[in-house]
Amino acid sequence: MTMTTEVCVVGGGPGGRALALALVRLGHEVVLLEQRSGGARAFRGESVSPDGVRILAGLDVLDRVRDDTHEVHRLEISDGGARVLDVRFETFPYAYRHPVELAQPVLLAALAEATAGHGGCTVLEPASAVGLLRDGGAVRGVRAKTPEGTMEIRAEVTVGADGRYSAVRRFSGLDHTARRTPLERDVVWLKLPFPDAWDRRAYRVRISSGRHGLFLPSTDGTLRVGLNIPKGGLRELRAGGLEQLHARLAELAPELRHEAADTIRSWSDTHLLDIFTTDVRRWSAPGVVLIGDAAHTLSPILGQGVNHALADAVALAPLLASALEAPRSARAAALGTAVAAFQQEREAPVRRSRGLQLRQERMFSLSAPPAAALRRTVYRALNASPALQRRVLAPAYFPGQQARADGGGTGTKTSTEQLT
Ligand SMILES: Cc1cc2nc3c(=O)[nH]c(=O)nc-3n(C[C@H](O)[C@H](O)[C@H](O)COP(=O)(O)OP(=O)(O)OC[C@H]3O[C@@H](n4cnc5c(N)ncnc54)[C@H](O)[C@@H]3O)c2cc1C
Repeated sequence: MTMTTEVCVVGGGPGGRALALALVRLGHEVVLLEQRSGGARAFRGESVSPDGVRILAGLDVLDRVRDDTHEVHRLEISDGGARVLDVRFETFPYAYRHPVELAQPVLLAALAEATAGHGGCTVLEPASAVGLLRDGGAVRGVRAKTPEGTMEIRAEVTVGADGRYSAVRRFSGLDHTARRTPLERDVVWLKLPFPDAWDRRAYRVRISSGRHGLFLPSTDGTLRVGLNIPKGGLRELRAGGLEQLHARLAELAPELRHEAADTIRSWSDTHLLDIFTTDVRRWSAPGVVLIGDAAHTLSPILGQGVNHALADAVALAPLLASALEAPRSARAAALGTAVAAFQQEREAPVRRSRGLQLRQERMFSLSAPPAAALRRTVYRALNASPALQRRVLAPAYFPGQQARADGGGTGTKTSTEQLT
């Protein structure tokens, strides 16, 4: 079977769904393929940063999910048992100040409902892209496997929104321009009952020597814990048994020792995230473009992945829309210009987030006592200066709003900024 459309989006994650919605709002036709059905995604992208919240409001999706969000007011970092940083999001001078927790299946369902309300998008689910259609040197759509058999979706432009292991990136040859950098650690995610004494409106980072963990409130009322372990260290952790996991957790949060032992009774109660960043030099080739994790996989620090996937979608949609309106003879060139402009617009904010994440990652892993003492000094300096907090954290949490407010805000860095 063959279908023909203007835009074929491969991948129904936050990036692909938001792009489909943004395109149908602009009056364009989309076919979206998602390889999984049912939308089950434990431990995926629940933290949406303030810029992501702004984008959802702009897509008229925020009101659909508002009752399912959990607004976060503070970011607290403790190091060696002492609180060294307490950021209050309300002090940032932007319209959307607070990150929210939002379960990804809820977000995806809301984006899908809003898209269906507009019409113009055909969703094939489950449908897996297994190859690209080509005409001369250009991509002209996708070959997909569905329960009914193989299909061809012919499209003027194909978008790889298929995540960190993108098949479209591989099929299109853009993988050759990708550099994957493993980070020094992986994350074991797990959920625990939320401690009564803890502020439900706070993100917590706990650091002890060179180890750290993330402790995040979840919309289901539980505590989402991301425990960092050395790269490839799961085997060693498992060999030590669950007691070793409980002990690692208790090192960072002694008050959770009993909850951990009572709740985490099997390794199937945990989920491993292999942490790497992927820096793709070229996000497009004739007839195809990558967005979201497919173009730039980030680490989980400061919850940036969903935000950048959404930001890519709303940046790309109007560029594609106006190129698709060009006369047929000029369309291929217009699409080429559009995708190049898209990468140019989005590359710098992604690079800034990645840089900030990598600097944080290095800070968290300092274990020698003098280096750990310096880290505490840096966080305390940041804590004492709301102005510095704004300069350091705005590029991570508010890049879109900051760019609107001050044209980018990338001035000369102070030494504290360079360290954070
Ligand atoms: C454990 C974990 C926790 C995370 N926590 C956070 C967080 O708190 N905050 C945050 O901002 N980010 C977080 N992230 C990262 C975040 O989930 C991603 O950055 C974000 O989902 C990227 O969106 P995307 O649409 O680009 O890709 P994805 O969300 O990865 O979506 C890609 C989609 O493409 C589909 N697909 C793949 N291949 C094919 C194919 N061949 N054919 C059809 N469909 C295909 C996949 O099934 C998937 O649905 C987390 C990631 C993980 C793994």
